[in-house]
Amino acid sequence: MERFGIYVHIPFCKKKCKYCDFISFASYEEKYKEYVDCLIKEIRNKKIEKTKTVTTIYLGGGTPSILESEDIVKILNAIKERFEIEENCEITIEVNPGTITRQKLEDYKNAGVNRLSIGLQSTSDRILKFIGRIHTYEEFLNTYNLAKEVGFENINVDLMLAIPTQTENELIDSVQKVIDLEPNHISLYSLILEEGTELDKMVSDGQYELLDENLERQMYWETKNLLESNGYNHYEISNFSKKGFESKHNMDCWNQENYIGFGLAAHSYYDDMRFSNIDALEVYMRNIKNNDFEKNVEIHEIQDKPAQMREFMMIGLRKIEGVKISDFERKFRINPLFYFRFEISKLTDEDLIEVDLDNIKLTKKGLDLANQVFEEFV
Ligand code: SF4
Repeated sequence: MERFGIYVHIPFCKKKCKYCDFISFASYEEKYKEYVDCLIKEIRNKKIEKTKTVTTIYLGGGTPSILESEDIVKILNAIKERFEIEENCEITIEVNPGTITRQKLEDYKNAGVNRLSIGLQSTSDRILKFIGRIHTYEEFLNTYNLAKEVGFENINVDLMLAIPTQTENELIDSVQKVIDLEPNHISLYSLILEEGTELDKMVSDGQYELLDENLERQMYWETKNLLESNGYNHYEISNFSKKGFESKHNMDCWNQENYIGFGLAAHSYYDDMRFSNIDALEVYMRNIKNNDFEKNVEIHEIQDKPAQMREFMMIGLRKIEGVKISDFERKFRINPLFYFRFEISKLTDEDLIEVDLDNIKLTKKGLDLANQVFEEFV
């Protein structure tokens, strides 16, 4: 039976973080209910054969936990009514400390949510304040402990490295404190300065400097080693997990599986096509109210087989185990070592990738220069 994942975008936050360029709006409380109604209508009207099964559901944002939990339950019920859901479907919700109560967590659990992703970023209150997060470390701890008490076993904690002014000690301290809590999954992303964000202005104005690239790499390797020596398996450039707790949703994306996005600016990959919903909130909601669902969709790419193969390599190489030659052959009926012989020969000569039995994967050097590798497959 064919399978696919579902992503649901909740584009609201209490306050905009200084580094954030995601589609999310602060102080839009009066739009929450209207948006949820539109979202549910979009889900109910999606034309997908009932024979296809949903294997993962991911509620992301924004801050999904900013909504009343009854809205989250309504959204999940709409998905369950409209689609066939696999029995052990992974259902994740992103939550931010400062927006969570025990009641909300219990409601999520009763509605079938079995994975939480908590946005922490740092355990230093100084850093949290600097990047504009709404919470303190203590508030994160309350959220984390509540989640454990309510019975969530599968928890991810998001951390960030290379934040301007962040010291190595502050970073190591953050990672160690989170390791001590023993979540099953830790994501550790390098800060990227996005154009137009408040942090971007602060850096352009000369108030702060980005960390030196060598220091950023040093931080990456130090934290990678620390996580690995504490039993976390490094399975994707920025993701670590205890065995068996890799994010199924993200793994499917890196394996070029189908997923459908619902909500403002939500992206989809389905039947070899990449498309997304538009990112203008009022227009998105008006189109849904007028039953003009198609007007919300922007097609980005219809892939032919060569484009699919290039992308399969590009996103597959994000995984530490890399691209499995046998998987590639099964999907495309050709050996990638032959099809990409020039790219692979160039990248292995430069010591950026290696071929290890059934796997084509990044080398240590390739992990530091991953973008250079991906460019070969664009
Ligand atoms: S909570 Fe997340 S989505 Fe919201 S502003 Fe901060 S970084 Fe952006």
